[in-house]
Amino acid sequence: MEIEAVGTMRTCFPEKFGIPRQSGLAPLARGVLRFSPSNPPAVWRDAMRGLEGFTHAWTTFVFHQALQDGWKSLVRPPRLGGKEKMGVWATRSPHRPNFLGLSLLEIESIDFDEPSILFRGVDLLDGTPVLDIRPYHPDHDLPKSASRDGWIAHAPQPRALVDWSPQALEEIPTAAARTVPGMPAYDTHEVRALVESLVSLDPRPGHLRGGTGDWAMRLLGFDVKFRMDSDRATILSLE
Ligand code: SAH
Repeated sequence: MEIEAVGTMRTCFPEKFGIPRQSGLAPLARGVLRFSPSNPPAVWRDAMRGLEGFTHAWTTFVFHQALQDGWKSLVRPPRLGGKEKMGVWATRSPHRPNFLGLSLLEIESIDFDEPSILFRGVDLLDGTPVLDIRPYHPDHDLPKSASRDGWIAHAPQPRALVDWSPQALEEIPTAAARTVPGMPAYDTHEVRALVESLVSLDPRPGHLRGGTGDWAMRLLGFDVKFRMDSDRATILSLE
């Protein structure tokens, strides 16, 4: 069996640290899917016909930056503070058999000329190879009998309260002006909301939650530096 990517996703996340651990958690996290030259643009245009009628799409992709680490049958989900182990099939860990990712992404717009698809709420690294796109169908994909959510029920998504330093607030316009080739521009309001939502998800490794320390994540064309103190965060600078 050989699988070929249909395209590559350009996203606002040049590095793994700070990427939300699930799709939809940071709605302003954008990704642009551009298609592979293995087929002429007209073929991809045809493949998208009708997709504009849907708000969300399932996207399957390869966790290409996890391949080198291999996978294990037991993983430590960050949501459990890195203390407890779960079977890989009870988790969304990138380190899984076949390294296949599955994200439910919001379709912001479709460009039939280029062609490309702009998504929101991505949890994908920049450059991720995409395998397939399918429309989200609420009637079928949200079963009424889904009543158990296993260990997740007892492991709520961490949330930090976020403050901005005066310096970081001043740096928002400069950060917003640093456009990244191939990515749509972010205005100042969007940069502010995106940074705030990512930091509020407390991206630290599970076992370091609760402590105090300074962290940095790379986003679009700038670095976000922030201080974590238990469940409070201060955004220090956008450099
Ligand atoms: N919604 C997907 C992904 C969940 S894991 C699923 O359920 O399959 C999300 C994490 O995967 C992110 O926080 C990021 O750290 C990691 N990730 C995203 N893209 C990746 C890639 N191309 N290679 C390796 N890891 C990646």
